[in-house]
Amino acid sequence: SAKLEGRNNYQFYSCATHAESPVRLTMESQLYHALERNEMFLVYQPRVDVKSGRIVAVEVLLRWNNKDLGFVPPISFIPVAEDTGLILPIGDWVMHEACRQCRLWTDAGLTLKVAVNLSARQFKNKNLLRATVSAINAYGIDPGLFELEITESILMNHTESSVATLRQLSDMGVGIAIDDFGTGYSSLAYLKRFPVHALKIDRSFINEITQEAEDLAIVRAISSLARSLHLKVIAEGVETEAQLQFLQYPECDEYQGYLFSKPTTAEKISDMLSSGIVIAQPG
Ligand code: C2E
Ligand code: MG
Ligand code: MG
Ligand code: MG
Repeated sequence: SAKLEGRNNYQFYSCATHAESPVRLTMESQLYHALERNEMFLVYQPRVDVKSGRIVAVEVLLRWNNKDLGFVPPISFIPVAEDTGLILPIGDWVMHEACRQCRLWTDAGLTLKVAVNLSARQFKNKNLLRATVSAINAYGIDPGLFELEITESILMNHTESSVATLRQLSDMGVGIAIDDFGTGYSSLAYLKRFPVHALKIDRSFINEITQEAEDLAIVRAISSLARSLHLKVIAEGVETEAQLQFLQYPECDEYQGYLFSKPTTAEKISDMLSSGIVIAQPG
């Protein structure tokens, strides 16, 4: 199955990327030239409103196709990009590219929110505010159409300046979502102290939601917590119709997963949007 392949792939790369292995060194040296050689590109995965079935946002996911290494999954190269600091120029490129695409969609009459993943190093970087605003302004997009996804663990390692940055971005209308919610170490007090707008429930809770009572209980608890705090809830990794059925009751706002679509090209997203009845309101 795709799931097993993914796991094997992950194990292969995670062993290979440890320490000073040859694959890791090749990856590192190739990563330095990845942008200038146009080896990186973005794919987009729809986020769908549970009630209306409409696409309301896309998650922006980075892809790297290298001449020697082939397709390298982000779970392998993002840590290398982090260690080398290359995540900063790469992350800036991702934000610009996402905003450029958002502008194209807006100009085509397709209003669609773009959600970009932020790594630990980007979050801690003093230039985060400038980098984000620069991407948004470069294409003149509505800041309400831009969202940042940050994992709990990354959020936990905040500095005062990174929290101030989140607040400034939030005041501009930029959305902040906590990614892989439920898997990291976090304090619920942060949901109150930080300008957070959405929780993305990690797919490990969705995976067996139809069989495991505990998973359903956790999803329900997260949903009701989110509702009380006026946060949006998004279920990640929805692969089956049965899983989606289970998400109606805990009342997730949106879902994302292979059931609706795998991450795909901007063109395919445009086709889905223009063939469907899809208009998302910013904010
Ligand atoms: P994430 O942010 O939690 O992204 C969701 C991951 O789940 C994506 O993997 C997506 O393809 C996968 N996924 C979506 N639906 C399903 C499903 O129904 N079943 C299964 N099994 N998987 C599903 P991907 O694209 O390989 O990305 C992996 C991780 O790499 C992301 O996790 C994110 O943490 C990181 N990443 C990807 N792009 C970027 C980026 O531009 N910047 C940074 N900093 N990190 C990125
Ligand atoms: Mg994400
Ligand atoms: Mg996630
Ligand atoms: Mg993840």
